[in-house]
Amino acid sequence: MSKNIDWSNLGFGYMPTDCSFVSNFKNGAWDEGELTTDHNIVLNECAGVFQYAQTVFEGLKAYTTKDGDIVTFRPDLNASRLADSARRLKIPPYDEAKFIEAVKKVVLANADYVPPYGSGATLYIRPYIMGTNAVIGVKPADEYQFRILVTPVGPYFKGGAKPISIRVCDYDRAAPHGTGNIKAGLNYAMSLYAIVEAHEQGFDENMYLDAATRTKVEETGGANFIFIKGNKLITPKSNSILPSITRRSLCIVAEKYLGMEVEHREVFFDEVKDMDECGLCGTAAVISPVGRINDHGKDIFLPSGMTEMGPVCTKLRETLTGIQMGTIEAPEGWIVKIK
Ligand SMILES: *Cc1c(COP(=O)(O)O)cnc(C)c1O
Repeated sequence: MSKNIDWSNLGFGYMPTDCSFVSNFKNGAWDEGELTTDHNIVLNECAGVFQYAQTVFEGLKAYTTKDGDIVTFRPDLNASRLADSARRLKIPPYDEAKFIEAVKKVVLANADYVPPYGSGATLYIRPYIMGTNAVIGVKPADEYQFRILVTPVGPYFKGGAKPISIRVCDYDRAAPHGTGNIKAGLNYAMSLYAIVEAHEQGFDENMYLDAATRTKVEETGGANFIFIKGNKLITPKSNSILPSITRRSLCIVAEKYLGMEVEHREVFFDEVKDMDECGLCGTAAVISPVGRINDHGKDIFLPSGMTEMGPVCTKLRETLTGIQMGTIEAPEGWIVKIK
């Protein structure tokens, strides 16, 4: 029986559910893992996660399809990305097949918190790994915890997707050969100063440029860029961009479903003024339209305008959400049924 939650008015906040999944790494191996109703973690004050930020995370969602199934979208890519992130921070990777089993187990146990079809709400799934034993000299921890918490979140756009205003940011997000390509809290901690400053100046997000030359588009603090130009989808390529699963999926949708040409290449900021549409993509919103990009006081207004999402981004978003919700046939393996 679905919980008595006002799904349409739910925001993006944390709400404890019935249980979380937890597995511990000790003496060189991960244990089997289990569900827990305890939503607090008690750790030593000197745990590696607190001292040297040794932690990585993922984000995906479970939702109800048109046929009433509870499913999740391409969790295999979250599993492999979490393992990549872990290896970069000398965290022992969690087995990819077991990751998918754990996601299924924790969602199934919290099935009453999965919002109904058509509500626009989803059950957000947050897997993460952290160093748990005491570390004071700088080195990787010896013990770790892998945890998955789930929490219901509301529809991303309430009353239509309004284009946002962003600014070119003077702070860098990621260095060449740094950690920009992994999903780690450390990349977010240092983005907080820049995002609060952007908000104070009236912008919704930061556009980060490449740290080495400041001429190429990277991404925002938590979403990849896509640009539309004619029948082309253009998306920036760089070793310091986080490989968004939404962006990778949209490229396939553009090519295979909408007959578009896809270019994954370096995108110079100078080219942005010639684009038809711009969008930010990530699990939460799928695509957020960008209407205006401010470069040190100089505005670029995308031709798609400031009142609604452009026609191509709309088509892309409708096709991908249709695939997710079961109204459009999905490529093999994209939709994983939980119940
Ligand atoms: C999570 C994340 C994204 C979006 O990735 P999805 O897999 O599409 O949710 C983009 N950029 C950064 C920096 C991220 O952390």
